[in-house]
Amino acid sequence: MAGLKLTFYGTRGSIPVPGPSTMKYGGNTACLDIKSDDGDWIVFDAGTGIRALSEEMDLSKGHDIHLFISHPHWDHISGFPFFTPVFIPGNNIIIYGPGTFEKTLEEIIRGQMTYSYFPVRTEELNAKISFRELKEETFEIGNFKIETTMLNHPVTCLGYKIYYKDTVFIYLGDNEPFYNVYNDNDSEVDNIANDMNNRLLNFVKGADTLVTDSQYIPSEYESHKGWGHSTTHDSVNLAINAGIKKLFFFHHDPQRTDKQLDFIVDHYRKRMKEKGYNLEIFGAMERHTYDV
Ligand SMILES: [Zn+2]
Ligand SMILES: [Zn+2]
Repeated sequence: MAGLKLTFYGTRGSIPVPGPSTMKYGGNTACLDIKSDDGDWIVFDAGTGIRALSEEMDLSKGHDIHLFISHPHWDHISGFPFFTPVFIPGNNIIIYGPGTFEKTLEEIIRGQMTYSYFPVRTEELNAKISFRELKEETFEIGNFKIETTMLNHPVTCLGYKIYYKDTVFIYLGDNEPFYNVYNDNDSEVDNIANDMNNRLLNFVKGADTLVTDSQYIPSEYESHKGWGHSTTHDSVNLAINAGIKKLFFFHHDPQRTDKQLDFIVDHYRKRMKEKGYNLEIFGAMERHTYDV
């Protein structure tokens, strides 16, 4: 099987939470990358973890960096001004992602580097930076074929599916299963929500690895309904129904301690064993690399 390496640099949702209770799974916000045996490389999201990624790079040479943003909430873009390659000439950074109803992708990324927020403007960065706004589409970068899908979140948010030879990898940005927002038992609305959930299931179906928002445990969900995030149950059900082999809980709640995450992962691993499902479950860990 073709080889992909997956590394997390930030696994947390919402806000960075460094401290003694997050040492194991990490306190930085969303950032991960995949690298192929052939040198193909994609970075997903630019939360505070992307600063850690620059520490791992050989900055003495130029890089072509394909940076995919799932959506522009702070925990997915706020590390960008601290991503060292943007200051170094010879780097070519292409930023992909959705715009919003308010702003283009370029306005969103440049907007956080304006006078009131940051001392350096994007015009002063020495790397070559360009933007490619995405909708639902399919395209190629090197040996990677990339497919995108819309997710259910309070702002436009994309999920990414990467094909590399016989391996399929999926990163879903922030995502909540669709539901009847009117709570009125209207079967027509229920059907639409079901159709939308099936659409996502079909997107994920047949992939090998799934990294997905698993912010809440089921008991926390009711008070956070509509905030745009999934539960660990949602993620496991999606993975089982889609025939996924490796599932990574990602976008950990800022309140979640290492001990709690260990407990949650252990709980689901036992359940999989009891039920005879062939699904490996991991809690995404900052600065850890996995073969996928
Ligand atoms: Zn988020
Ligand atoms: Zn979000």
